[in-house]
Amino acid sequence: MADVQMGEAETFAFQAEINQLLSLIINTFYSNKEIFLRELISNSSDALDKIRFESLTDKSKLDAQPELFIRLVPDKVNKTLSIIDSGIGMTKADLVNNLGTIARSGTKEFMEALQAGADVSMIGQFGVGFYSAYLVAEKVIVTTKHNDDEQYIWESQAGGSFTVTRDVSGEQLGRGTKITLYMKEDQLEYLEERRIKDLVKKHSEFISYPIYLWTEKTTEKEVSDDEDDEAKKEEEGDVEEVDEEKEKKSKKKKVKEVSHEWQLINKQKPIWLRKPEEITKDEYASFYKSLTNDWEEHLAVKHFSVEGQLEFKAILFVPKRAPFDLFDTRKKMNNIKLYVRRVFIMDNCEELIPEYLGFVKGVVDSDDLPLNISREMLQQNKILKVIRKNLVKKCIEMFTEISENKEDYTKFYEAFSKNLKLGIHEDSQNRSKLADLLRYQSTKSGDEMTSLKDYVTRMKEGQKNIYYITGESKKAVENSPFLERLKKKGYEVLFMVDAIDEYAVGQLKEYDGKKLVSATKEGLKLDDETEEEKKKQEEKKKSFESLCKIIKDILGDKVEKVVVSDRIVDSPCCLVTGEYGWSANMERIMKAQALRDSSMGSYMSSKKTMEINPDNGIMEELRKRAETDKNDKSVKDLVLLLFETALLTSGFSLDDPNTFAARIHRMLKLGLNIDEDETAAEDSDMPALEEEGNEESKMEEVD
Ligand code: ADP
Repeated sequence: MADVQMGEAETFAFQAEINQLLSLIINTFYSNKEIFLRELISNSSDALDKIRFESLTDKSKLDAQPELFIRLVPDKVNKTLSIIDSGIGMTKADLVNNLGTIARSGTKEFMEALQAGADVSMIGQFGVGFYSAYLVAEKVIVTTKHNDDEQYIWESQAGGSFTVTRDVSGEQLGRGTKITLYMKEDQLEYLEERRIKDLVKKHSEFISYPIYLWTEKTTEKEVSDDEDDEAKKEEEGDVEEVDEEKEKKSKKKKVKEVSHEWQLINKQKPIWLRKPEEITKDEYASFYKSLTNDWEEHLAVKHFSVEGQLEFKAILFVPKRAPFDLFDTRKKMNNIKLYVRRVFIMDNCEELIPEYLGFVKGVVDSDDLPLNISREMLQQNKILKVIRKNLVKKCIEMFTEISENKEDYTKFYEAFSKNLKLGIHEDSQNRSKLADLLRYQSTKSGDEMTSLKDYVTRMKEGQKNIYYITGESKKAVENSPFLERLKKKGYEVLFMVDAIDEYAVGQLKEYDGKKLVSATKEGLKLDDETEEEKKKQEEKKKSFESLCKIIKDILGDKVEKVVVSDRIVDSPCCLVTGEYGWSANMERIMKAQALRDSSMGSYMSSKKTMEINPDNGIMEELRKRAETDKNDKSVKDLVLLLFETALLTSGFSLDDPNTFAARIHRMLKLGLNIDEDETAAEDSDMPALEEEGNEESKMEEVD
């Protein structure tokens, strides 16, 4: 196959998902077809960025075509619209891969979004913008020339396949890409100059390369008979003679001249060079849209310049929603474009902004970086470090500004709270500022969310700590036994129900000089005990000491120790974890992460302490029984059952739910006065409840 003859077409099948996407684009009714032009111009602009960047280190890359431009050519006769750029172009392999055989991760997501009623204008965000050409065209021809390959032609009318042919005789591009759309009969409006100009103004105003439109100009000119011949020679355009009869009478002739010229249809002065007070909200919005392909406006914007030893200008935006692949770990998100003195250098400059702010979009234009800076150089660049520090500061300022409007902040927080928490985990320098942006529901907040700052203002007199509980959902934690005493005493407890809270709070440790204390971990001390209460507590502890020991003996390695609890009021017992080990919630999260290191798991998760409630009737009864008869078998069964229920109410999971169920069933039978022997024949799987005097505990068999 390697030896394809010159000019011979090779046929390729579209990858299945792309094919599906094409049918969807062609067969579904969308009124918003005009976005195709924006998508194709944006691809051209990207291709131009790439060649300009390459040329910074190797000027000769521009030799084949020194000028950087985008040209639009409507042709009403042939019903085509061509978009031509002098960008990087595509090699044959690029053509085959990029335009048909390799599906992007966004292909499927975009189709799902479309079927869920999303607008087709979202296409660019999913990285499949090229195919929007088929909204308006029945056939598309892509002619392209890359510095490293010959000129090739890609052609397709969709329908499952495309061809690639080496272009031996066509117009030579030098370098770049020409996309020719054969317009559908009902889409000829896009060949009108007016329409094209309006579209460029609307969607592509901020493209930083000149966009030229091939325009037709008709002028009337008076020429005398003898001048006529000369004039004909001079004019480049078509010349048409009119009203010859009339003209002859006046000795002078009027001719209508149709000429063509390239008309520049975009202003390219970058918006970030203008003064913020002179830019309207609409202008920011349309710049934002052209920068990001978003179909909605931004939620917030920050436009600033830094002057002095170091100079740069920047515009940062917060989008209204999180992108579909915000936490796609295969792809590092970074949406800041780096310019050096107006020249685009690169996207995705990792050194420019930390990962947790990857959702912030914008541009940075530096006056100090060298133009030919490479990715390698960026890593150690001091200037870049200063820029980064400033960007983070400005982002946090921007978020704080958003927080002044409750409605906006709710939106922002829903979309990006995970990023803020990641920031708390990673960015020690800005941790306390980021902590101000956190919001949680709490035992006192109702449906609203509270900030840590507001929590502090509500703290009880003498309260030194901020209390929180982590768990899977608000529902799972709000009635947790761990909160009983805290609630009774009137302490507010924050509900941290996002998996990432667990990591964030582990780093945060304190806020405004107050320690963050987990209600589910060991060592929870409430600060307002009176001497009398303390004494009472001590006495209780003493009287339950022997029961604690008996329980520990029964549970063995399942628990680290058994102690009398300070924190529960109603429930008989709960399981707490060591202050520095994993909480129940963390254990759940880690179990859900398939790739975790299992040795670490057993080390971190094994430290459970059972806390028993001396005021609870069950515990009191258990104590009595255990003290009168050390070998009371029902004590063992009850303790195991209590342990297993405590696992559940404390947010852990059961390793063996069947044994637990069997135990419950036996208890039910006991409660219903059903004799175990009578039913044994029916369900012989069920372990029998110990009878008085049995030598071996049958419980052992099921454990
Ligand atoms: P995206 O541009 O979001 O990556 P598209 O479907 O619009 O997705 O384009 C697919 C790929 O085809 C691009 O990533 C690029 O590599 C290539 N491509 C498209 N248009 C051009 C062009 N005008 N010049 C060079 N390459 C292009």
